[in-house]
Amino acid sequence: MTSSIEQAEQAERAKAEAEREKRMEIEKYAEELALSLRKEEDTSKALRKSRKAFQHQALHDSLTNLPNRAYFGEILKELIDNSKKKKDAGQSFVLFLDIARFKTINDSLGHTVGDKVLMIVAKRFLRMLRSHDAVARIGGDEFAIVLRDLPNLEKAEKIAWKVHQKIAQPFSLSKSKIYTSVNIGVAPVEAEYDTAEEILRDADIAMHFAKVQDCGVACFTRELRERFVEKAVIEAELRFAIERNELSMHYQPIISLKDGTLIGFEALLRWNHTEKGFISPARFIPIAESSGVIVPITTWILKETCAQLARWQKISPAYRELIVSVNISGKHLSFQSLLVDVEDALERARLSPSFLKLEITESAAMEDAEQTIRMLGHLKTLGVQLSIDDFGTGYSSLSYLHRLPFDTLKIDRSFVNSVGEDGEDSEILQTIISLAKNLRMRVIAEGIETESQLNILKNLGCEYGQGYLMSRPLASDVMEEMLHTKKYWLPREMTEETRFAPTNGLKDNNNLPVF
Ligand code: C2E
Ligand code: MG
Ligand code: MG
Repeated sequence: MTSSIEQAEQAERAKAEAEREKRMEIEKYAEELALSLRKEEDTSKALRKSRKAFQHQALHDSLTNLPNRAYFGEILKELIDNSKKKKDAGQSFVLFLDIARFKTINDSLGHTVGDKVLMIVAKRFLRMLRSHDAVARIGGDEFAIVLRDLPNLEKAEKIAWKVHQKIAQPFSLSKSKIYTSVNIGVAPVEAEYDTAEEILRDADIAMHFAKVQDCGVACFTRELRERFVEKAVIEAELRFAIERNELSMHYQPIISLKDGTLIGFEALLRWNHTEKGFISPARFIPIAESSGVIVPITTWILKETCAQLARWQKISPAYRELIVSVNISGKHLSFQSLLVDVEDALERARLSPSFLKLEITESAAMEDAEQTIRMLGHLKTLGVQLSIDDFGTGYSSLSYLHRLPFDTLKIDRSFVNSVGEDGEDSEILQTIISLAKNLRMRVIAEGIETESQLNILKNLGCEYGQGYLMSRPLASDVMEEMLHTKKYWLPREMTEETRFAPTNGLKDNNNLPVF
């Protein structure tokens, strides 16, 4: 009896034990399950977070935290679609902003300061805009703003000017006072656009115009786009103009006003485009300069003109000392290769350096006067002559002028032009001539078109002249023919006329040759 009770108790205990073990197992399983569920939740949370961060990174600029170009593109695309559906009440406008001289800030104050400038500028933009406008950083120092719901272009332009003024306020950074400014192009978001890049391109074109014109803000027009495209085409075609034999040199005689003899020539570039015909230097030279194509072109000009002069010097003993003047673009002065090109051209032509003169315009020479002084010093050691061109138009600093090793000064033709028939308004001419003489420079007057201008210049003591009155610039074959036939380059009747012309004591005219 006892044993059966014991047996039953034992069985009960064993059952309870088994149940406890099972419960523990279930609890353990439940715990494990909860843990793994928690882990899974954490992982998906982290995943969501990193996906969000990744998305943010993909659409924002890491320095300023502003939307980047891709994000701005999405915003613009939506606006274009709305404008096609005529969904928005007002009109939207894009401002393309480029920080002026940002490279100089970066180069002179370092990239850390450059980064800080970008951050400050970004904050200033943000502070100025309304909540439904947007600003993005779309390139190194380029930003773009979209202004929504405006009544017209004038309003957008007004806001652009406010932004311009705000950015122009100086700020202090690393103990330096920093001045920045922005050039801004404004373009409307219109239904005719298909992509965001098209609007950005047009706003960029307007910005470019504002930059070139130094006018701060410009609004896009179709005409601007046409001019921009034309400029880009000219720039591209100029690169091949040498290979296509489309470039040539014309030569304009420089004459001694004292005796009518030929002193030398100014070499002037001409472009005869195969399809478009003659393109004026006033049109293509500024493009060649701004794009830098002028540098390889000048290498070619130096070779061509030195070789040409060497041949012409051999025509007659009277021509052995003829000089050729080549115009050098201001941009070229920062290229050390100019020295090599000059030496190479002289060597190939076996021409003495003193017969080559380089003309640099006054405005180009003064743009970075210290750099000009250095480069001209190097050129002088090669033995070439130097001339300051278009003098009177470039705001020379007198303190620099006497440090620049120019041999010759060319008076800009506007001063020759503006002198009256009887010598009225000749004071500036007289001042420039005296200044040149005091600085021991020879004087050449450009753009002499009439005999009265010639007489006045002679009376003021100007030694040399160049202008349509004596000869227009001529192609080399025409010039060569003239060299064989022409000995006296002033108008014939000048001989008598100038002999009796009133002088002001600065000059004697009695040395004219007799023919
Ligand atoms: P610049 O160096 O001052 O050249 C003189 C310009 O005045 C030339 O114009 C010439 O044709 C013009 N000219 C000469 N005499 C008279 C005159 O009596 N009346 C008038 N109205 N004009 C006269 P061009 O050939 O059209 O050249 C214009 C400018 O283009 C040049 O001014 C020069 O700055 C630039 N340029 C021309 N050829 C070259 C070149 O080979 N290299 C560079 N870098 N620039 C050049
Ligand atoms: Mg010149
Ligand atoms: Mg000139």
